[in-house]
Amino acid sequence: MNHGRQLYIATYHYVRDLPHSRFPQIKGMLLDDFRNQVKVLPDLFEMATLNSAYDFLAGRYQPGRDLCLMTFDDGLKEHYSEVTPILSEKGIQGIFFPITGCMQDHVVAPVHMNHFLLAALGCEQYRAAFVDELSTLGLADLAHTTLDDAAAQWTYPLDDCETARFKYLFNFILSPLYRDVVVQKLFEEWIGEEAAFAADLYLSWEEAREMQRAGMMMGGHSHAHRPLARLENSELDLDLARCWELMQANLDAQDYWPFSYPYGKADSFDGRVIQKLRELGFCCSLCTEKGLNVPGVDFFAIHRVDCKQILPENHLLPQTSF
Ligand SMILES: [Zn+2]
Repeated sequence: MNHGRQLYIATYHYVRDLPHSRFPQIKGMLLDDFRNQVKVLPDLFEMATLNSAYDFLAGRYQPGRDLCLMTFDDGLKEHYSEVTPILSEKGIQGIFFPITGCMQDHVVAPVHMNHFLLAALGCEQYRAAFVDELSTLGLADLAHTTLDDAAAQWTYPLDDCETARFKYLFNFILSPLYRDVVVQKLFEEWIGEEAAFAADLYLSWEEAREMQRAGMMMGGHSHAHRPLARLENSELDLDLARCWELMQANLDAQDYWPFSYPYGKADSFDGRVIQKLRELGFCCSLCTEKGLNVPGVDFFAIHRVDCKQILPENHLLPQTSF
């Protein structure tokens, strides 16, 4: 019997002193707010580790209080430089999901290029520049592709309509074949050289291992951060296999290897994705759909809440969507 206990899992991405950073418009959690959460959360929850959360969901562990697990997507540098020392000091384990391609190849994931371009230019100017570039490729019509507005708003509930439409077009509709040519050109023009930016933005393997040695856990978040349910079987198999191989080759051993779906909504994974993850050896996978995590939950559709919604008094704060 679990006495009605639940596991809450918070999702973090950017955790930075945003007003004093080069990109104050980036959506993320302020470092001071994060420090405050780390102070307050242990009063409200038993802070879980991957092992205790896993044992709870498997029905092998009955905690006295609700559990809270802190998870961090995308393997950002501040997870090493800022987050890990703060968690370590409190003896809290964070679970980190880096993108293996970004670490290995020093590339910036297009989803992140899009964040920095949106933050630097604003939606209107960025969109206009994007359409101009598509036009030079003879692809201007693609910018006017008919979109499912409801799906765009569901995926990006807090963005204004135009930003949500643009992000949806960018992340789910446009083929990476030409989308990435366009975004890379704009990124280098407005933001900076990609490899150097990637080295500053993402963890290195050495940093990830240091985090493991400080008590943190690592998990997969795919190799190229593409919407997995939209990939052909061969692309899907290659991406997840590469992700697994690089993690096994470059990280310390762990009892469990969890996974976090890029984007994370219910339409970002499917049965093929789950089967491949199981075959490779991942123990479970986390999405960004809200719901109860209690024993008996689907281990490959574990629910999470946005980090700004984990504290009870913050339940009405806007959520950040990626
Ligand atoms: Zn991600």
